[in-house]
Amino acid sequence: MGALGNGTRGLAGGTDLVPLLRDGLVAADRLVDLRRVIPSGIDGTAIGAGTTLAELEADPQIPDALREACRLAASPQLRNMGTIGGNLLQATRCWYWRLNYPCRLHGGDVCHAREGQHREHAIFANDYCASAHPSDVAAALLALDATVETTRAAGPLAGLYRLPDDHDRNLVDLGADELITRIHYERPEQSVYLKAMDRKRWAFALVGVAAARYDDGVRLGLAGVAPIPWRLASLDDLEQATPLPGTAYKLELARALGRRAIAAVGG
Ligand SMILES: Cc1cc2nc3c(=O)[nH]c(=O)nc-3n(C[C@H](O)[C@H](O)[C@H](O)COP(=O)(O)OP(=O)(O)OC[C@H]3O[C@@H](n4cnc5c(N)ncnc54)[C@H](O)[C@@H]3O)c2cc1C
Ligand code: SF4
Repeated sequence: MGALGNGTRGLAGGTDLVPLLRDGLVAADRLVDLRRVIPSGIDGTAIGAGTTLAELEADPQIPDALREACRLAASPQLRNMGTIGGNLLQATRCWYWRLNYPCRLHGGDVCHAREGQHREHAIFANDYCASAHPSDVAAALLALDATVETTRAAGPLAGLYRLPDDHDRNLVDLGADELITRIHYERPEQSVYLKAMDRKRWAFALVGVAAARYDDGVRLGLAGVAPIPWRLASLDDLEQATPLPGTAYKLELARALGRRAIAAVGG
C-alpha cells in the first residue's frame, strides 16, 4: 500500500479513526478505504483483518474467548462497523490524551494521569505512560497465541505492541504504510473471556481476562491493565504489578477473574 503514509491514512470501519480526526487528535490529508484492499472473512484459524467484530461474534467456529471478547465490546452498531484489524490498533482511551493534554504520548514530558485521575489506568508497566489498553479482542488473541500477518512480515501478536519511551511514543510497531492483512490463532481445547466493567453493556474493560487451555497448559491475556495488551505466564505474575493508588482495586479484580477464567477452562 504505497499510497499510505505522508498524510494519507487508512480507514476501515472508521469507528475509532473518524472521532480522532474530528477531534483533531489525528491529522490526514487523504483517507484510503481499507475495506477494498484488506481480506475479510474467516477461513479455519485465519481471520481477515477486515472481518467485523459482529461477524466474529456470530461464527461458531471461532473460539469462545474471542467470540465473547467481541460480544462484550462496544455496541451492536459499532461491532457491525468495527474490524478486528482496527480494534487491535485503536488509540488509548486515556481521557487526558483524548482531551489533548500535552502528556507524554502527545510528546510532552509528564503523565497527567499518574498525578491526576487514573482509576481506569494501568497496574503494569505504568511508569512512563499509565494508560490501559482497551482491546478485549487483543487480550483474547494473546491467550489464543495469535500471530499477525502484515503486508511486510508475520509474527506473534505481542510483537505488534511496544511500550513507549522518550525516543518513540508509539504503542504499536507498524510502519505508516504497513497493513495488517490476517490474524491466525491456535485452536484451544477450551477458552473463555471474562470482563469487569462499570456497566453491563457498552463499557471498556476495567480488567478483562482471557484464558485458553492447550496441551501444555493455560495461556492468559489481559485487557485494561497495561499500556499494551498484557500476557501473564501464570497468575503468580500478578505479584509483579505496580498499581497506582487509584488502580490497586484492579489487582483484586485481575486475581478474581484470573482464578475464575482458569477454572472455567478446566486448568
Ligand atoms: C464508544 C466506543 C466503545 C468501544 N468499546 C470497546 C470495547 O468495549 N472493547 C473493545 O475492544 N473495543 C471497543 N471499542 C473500539 C472498537 O471496537 C474499535 O473502534 C473498532 O474495532 C475499530 O475498528 P475500525 O475498523 O472501525 O477501525 P478504524 O477506526 O477504521 O481504524 C482504527 C485505526 O486502525 C488503522 N487500521 C484499521 N485497519 C487496519 C489494517 N488492517 N491495517 C493497518 N491499519 C489499520 C486505521 O488506520 C486507524 O489508525 C469501542 C469504540 C467506541 C467508539
Ligand atoms: S496515561 Fe499515557 S496517555 Fe494518559 S496522560 Fe499519561 S502519558 Fe498521556
